[in-house]
Amino acid sequence: MTKIPMNKIVEMDGDEMTRILWQMIKDELLSPFVELNTEYYDLGLKYRDETNDKVTFEAGEAIKKYHVGVKCATITPNAQRVEEYNLKEMWKSPNGTIRAILDGTVFRAPILVNGINPVVKNWKKPITIARHAYGDVYKATEIRSEKKGKAELLFTYEDGTELRKEIYDFECGGVIQGQYNKDTSIKSFAHSCFKYAIATKQDLWFATKDTISKQYDQTFKLIFQDIYENEYKEEFEKLGIEYFYTLIDDAVARVIRSEGGYIWACKNYDGDVMSDMVSTAFGSLAMMTSVLVSPDGDYEYEAAHGTVTRHYYRYLKGEETSTNPIATIFAWTGALNKTGELDGNTALCEFAQKLEKACIDTIESGILTKDLAGLWEGDKPTVVNSKDFILAIRKTLEASL
Ligand code: NAP
Ligand code: MG
Repeated sequence: MTKIPMNKIVEMDGDEMTRILWQMIKDELLSPFVELNTEYYDLGLKYRDETNDKVTFEAGEAIKKYHVGVKCATITPNAQRVEEYNLKEMWKSPNGTIRAILDGTVFRAPILVNGINPVVKNWKKPITIARHAYGDVYKATEIRSEKKGKAELLFTYEDGTELRKEIYDFECGGVIQGQYNKDTSIKSFAHSCFKYAIATKQDLWFATKDTISKQYDQTFKLIFQDIYENEYKEEFEKLGIEYFYTLIDDAVARVIRSEGGYIWACKNYDGDVMSDMVSTAFGSLAMMTSVLVSPDGDYEYEAAHGTVTRHYYRYLKGEETSTNPIATIFAWTGALNKTGELDGNTALCEFAQKLEKACIDTIESGILTKDLAGLWEGDKPTVVNSKDFILAIRKTLEASL
């Protein structure tokens, strides 16, 4: 069989159990079928430390150059990791670094299979959460006061003039919080959401609490509305998809009653909370895809879970592990499909879609990793280790090619 050629994408290797899966996926599911063409960056913690984290910045810049990247899960060091890996510094989260370079929004969507049913019984299609990952309560300044006193909001313009508003005249102890966001960041968020809705041909929902927050949340609402009307409305209408704004409490009620199949754009805090709700209700983090989309149209695909440390320590002791590779495989198929789309490489797109189908068909045939066994509602499943699971997917894939 001749291998499918492809244009170059950025490959970012990672850590622990997912690094082991990464190699298995390449060896068994990709290299035999595709002339893999990647610019390789080793974001494993050891090499990040050796390069003083320069490799992470280079990888981020490379995504801007090639427009598509695929990333393995990586360790975000804490004090314990600094000791374990004898690190020079407690390096920052690679995802945070890359997000800052690409200025992107993260979209997370569940992978649905028959036999694993969402807790919400009317959810038939995936719900994709788009989380704005900048500012608000995550960058807020807080004061706790035990005494009486007056709290004011003060804005000093560049020319020294002041804008002052009273927040509250405290007759007792209390708490105050100052949070902010920037028009540039909200605009990037909006562009990423509209572009992703078009790319995936799904409706876009956006919700805030603008009836209560008449300046802050209202700004989000107006920026989205303005960008939609001026830049995306025509394309949305052409594709028959909808942009829909509502209040956050109304959105929550509608999401629960919906059958899914849309993108739900959330402000930072709403996205943090609601993505945990949605992913848990759909089943498992190991069945969740994640893609970072920049306002310039660069795409970085990854799994939503971490490096699965507990399984890795067992693997190191020579014990068998049944780690689920699906989200990592889908990171690859997402990247191959996207680069195929951008370059008009239909053979590559078809391969990516067949590989995704092979994953789903294998699970639906009852061959599962251990994490899925507890969620499985079909006939008695065959629970296998990671390697055997990947080999079963390969067999299903080969039969379909
Ligand atoms: P984790 O790697 O997501 O794993 C947490 C637990 O979830 C695992 O112990 C396992 O449960 C289950 N799990 C997650 N993915 C699974 C899979 N593919 N198959 C089967 N079970 C799976 O989170 P963590 O243990 O909190 O973090 C480990 C490391 O990952 C940390 O160093 C963290 O910094 C990093 N991390 C990286 C990213 C990223 O790169 N995007 C994201 C999150 C965390 P059982 O042990 O019960 O089987
Ligand atoms: Mg959270």
